[in-house]
Amino acid sequence: MADRILIVEDEEKLARFVELELNHEGYEVQKAFDGRTGLMMALEGDCDLILLDVMLPGMSGLELLRRLRKEKQTPVILVTARDAVMDKVTGLDMGADDYITKPFEIEELLARIRAALRKRMAPATGGNVLSSGELKLDPARHELHYAGERIELTHREFALLQVLMENRSIVLSREKLLELVWDYDYAGETNVVDVYIRYLRAKIDDAYGVKYIHTVRGVGYVFRDA
Ligand code: CA
Repeated sequence: MADRILIVEDEEKLARFVELELNHEGYEVQKAFDGRTGLMMALEGDCDLILLDVMLPGMSGLELLRRLRKEKQTPVILVTARDAVMDKVTGLDMGADDYITKPFEIEELLARIRAALRKRMAPATGGNVLSSGELKLDPARHELHYAGERIELTHREFALLQVLMENRSIVLSREKLLELVWDYDYAGETNVVDVYIRYLRAKIDDAYGVKYIHTVRGVGYVFRDA
């Protein structure tokens, strides 16, 4: 069955253009032209991915994302203005899976959509449970537990932690992590890695008073048994 994509975008011409391109690629498309309608459709429908403009009437894209993440982990690609660095960082912190800057090339958008959907599919291929002390990551179930307590991660956070745990005690550079977790050209965007490392630390190291994720200055990051 075709993947369903929800476009939340108030520029109706742009939304229609993207819809046509996505239809052409075989996706089913739904559209919402304001934040409130978008949130309702995201919560009540079962789309596979949301393309979410940040600047929206009614409710901003970031507010929509914040409310959505309380209930659902549907992959979200944020659409931001060229210079809105804060929107990008805030959006990633709030659980967006990726972002793209306006104006964008349709080919780039399609690549990011494919990557986000592939990440969603990847865990289904399984893999052994990775554990370190009380921390247990189950790729097949896409679940993380600490001392039996469930920790909610976004798809990207999960993928990053999985790569770190699979390479336990091996220092990985930001570039290497970009390549392994984001898997297409994000050259020069290594700050995205730092944002996600911070997010993982908040949910695991800081939350449980342990230290798994270490910074190796000038080199990168490494997962070590706590
Ligand atoms: Ca807009």
